[in-house]
Amino acid sequence: MSYKTTIGLEIHAELKTKTKMFCNSKNDTEEKNPNVNICPICMGHPGTLPAINKEAVKKVLKVGVALGAELADFSEFDRKNYFYPDIPKGYQISQYKYPLVKGGELNGVKITRVHLEEDTAKSSHDAEDYSLVDFNRAGIPLMELVTEPVIHSGSEAAEFAKELQLLLRYLGASDANMEKGEMRVEANVSVSKSDIFGVKVEVKNLNSFRAVEKAVAYEVERQIAVIESGEKVIQETRGWDENKQKTFSQRLKEESHDYRYFPDPDLPKLKISEILEFSEENLRKELPELPWEKRERLEKEFGLKDEAIEIFTQDMASGEFFESVAFHLETEFPSSSPLGNRVSKLADAILLASNYIISDLSGLMKDKNISSNELKIEPKNFAKLIKMAADGEISSRATKDVLKIMFDEGGDPEKIVKEKGLAQTSDNSFIKNIVEDVVKNNLAAVEEFKNGKENSLQFLVGQGMKISKGKANPGALQKLLKERLGK
Ligand code: ADP
Ligand code: MG
Repeated sequence: MSYKTTIGLEIHAELKTKTKMFCNSKNDTEEKNPNVNICPICMGHPGTLPAINKEAVKKVLKVGVALGAELADFSEFDRKNYFYPDIPKGYQISQYKYPLVKGGELNGVKITRVHLEEDTAKSSHDAEDYSLVDFNRAGIPLMELVTEPVIHSGSEAAEFAKELQLLLRYLGASDANMEKGEMRVEANVSVSKSDIFGVKVEVKNLNSFRAVEKAVAYEVERQIAVIESGEKVIQETRGWDENKQKTFSQRLKEESHDYRYFPDPDLPKLKISEILEFSEENLRKELPELPWEKRERLEKEFGLKDEAIEIFTQDMASGEFFESVAFHLETEFPSSSPLGNRVSKLADAILLASNYIISDLSGLMKDKNISSNELKIEPKNFAKLIKMAADGEISSRATKDVLKIMFDEGGDPEKIVKEKGLAQTSDNSFIKNIVEDVVKNNLAAVEEFKNGKENSLQFLVGQGMKISKGKANPGALQKLLKERLGK
């Protein structure tokens, strides 16, 4: 019988608030100078009093509503006691018995709880004979989300973390950049041959989604090897070594009673249900469109494919650009045209726009390292370009060329097409000349076509497009070619 893998995640995210969790020091995760955003409260000086940051509480409650979870009626903060140089008070203010949020679900994974605590300071051990501590981070509001042990692979764990990151960004709760430490994932991993859970190991220092996936996979293999060799997995905390791509033992797991949790006597209890602003109804009203709602709408409204939907959902700015283009396309297709015709033409043009955005435009943006909100192209002008392409006024080659010019300089595509002489033409005498050239230079293909090989016609049209440098209207070209060849 093979082994079953069980994973539960504990994910921390620094909340985006103006000030820290219990004082007025600035919450700035970008600050490079050490120990500037500090005050006697977050430095843990004796005799100081913390006060609860309402915005932080609200953000966690909003996460709860988005997850379809249960908001606490009653909640409180507890002291988690331990000594470490990055924890100036000798305890961390956290939540133990009464988290703000319980239950809920994300990506099919059941959530245990979401609670609020304060971040620790940041130590660095780069120097040889001393360590440094930066207290800018001490006291930044930190959300902790714990999942049930219902995940079964590293990739599933990484997918969950990705979706949570997206949700936190949509909610404006956290920027959740993993490489900046704004979101930190810990994976509890166990393997077992029976239905009884195996001994779990907690893996820390996972600084990317890839690391989550790799570390879990490594840990599963390691635990199986331990068991197969007749030994027992020990419950411990392990780190992930990015260079060696291995987990390593850090310390034996501490139990919750080691921390001597007790309610913080300096802070008021929270009767959440009595705070009108925190009512589920109120919070729900403030929720933006959520990622999964957006996916569904993009599918329904525009019939986009999964790949496009995912790009427009993950990259909010490019999603906005696309939707703005789609909006402008509506006016490019006047409602005076026959209805059925208009609807299908508009739908096709919107799909064409989506394709150009996720392939050509994205390619240009990647090359120049530009994001969608830095684009010089106005959505309205992008819509005009797509309309010209959809109507066959310009070839796909010309569309790409105009797009490149618009990308570099902005501008009106109609003007650019005129200036560069890129418009396709159905002009009879122009196309007839092309047809003559094609026929003269491709006698073999002409013969084949006359003998019934339909494919040869496409080849000949292609040759004509080439000779005309994309300027011949392919429909007109095909029609005149057929006439010339007596079909
Ligand atoms: P602890 O008290 O040791 O911190 P918790 O019950 O709080 O343990 O669980 C912490 C995390 O570990 C949760 O995400 C939970 O889903 C996960 N977990 C619990 N048991 C297991 C197990 N046997 N295998 C994998 N993950 C587990
Ligand atoms: Mg725990």
